[in-house]
Amino acid sequence: RLETMSHSLLRLFSLENEAPKMQRFSALSLAKSVEESIAYPLRQRQLVLELRVEDEWVTGERSLLEILLYNLLDNARKASNPGSKITLLGTKVPVGYCFAVKDRGRGIPPEALSRITEPFYMVDKSRTRKAGGAGLGLALCDEIARLHGARLIISSTPGVGTTVSVVFDTEGAQYEKANQ
Ligand code: ADP
Repeated sequence: RLETMSHSLLRLFSLENEAPKMQRFSALSLAKSVEESIAYPLRQRQLVLELRVEDEWVTGERSLLEILLYNLLDNARKASNPGSKITLLGTKVPVGYCFAVKDRGRGIPPEALSRITEPFYMVDKSRTRKAGGAGLGLALCDEIARLHGARLIISSTPGVGTTVSVVFDTEGAQYEKANQ
């Protein structure tokens, strides 16, 4: 856990002074890479990952966006009961492109929602510690999104599930149509 935590912390600090190294790649290929890297942890909990990703050229630092999606999927994994389904969505939206991770897990209490991206904030400390968390995952995701001119939108209902969306704005020409 310490190793994961110090790695996340280092990433968080180093990101603050860095501009992302922009690359152009397909949203679907990004989703598939992340699917591959999270496959084993998901299988261990008998969780099914459904990919519903519209392909589109996206521009960003690919490795950072992989970390972002991986962290969101890992949170979904930790919140889900064995056997349930997690969906990774990628959708063209009027302002640009939206990735979202939807789980049918335990949900987040409304009073915690506004604090959840703060470093070291955990809803249930004993449970998240046991699951290997340190409260840094969403802080890192938030920072990565911010560096890409995007933001996290978290909607959750306790006992029903959580959806975390990242909306990338096309302003600044970060996204282009794949077929142009
Ligand atoms: P960690 O690295 O410990 O997972 P995060 O910063 O990723 O910490 O998340 C902060 C808190 O938000 C944790 O306490 C976790 O329980 C809660 N959380 C994050 N994502 C979800 C989710 N999809 N469902 C329920 N709780 C979540």
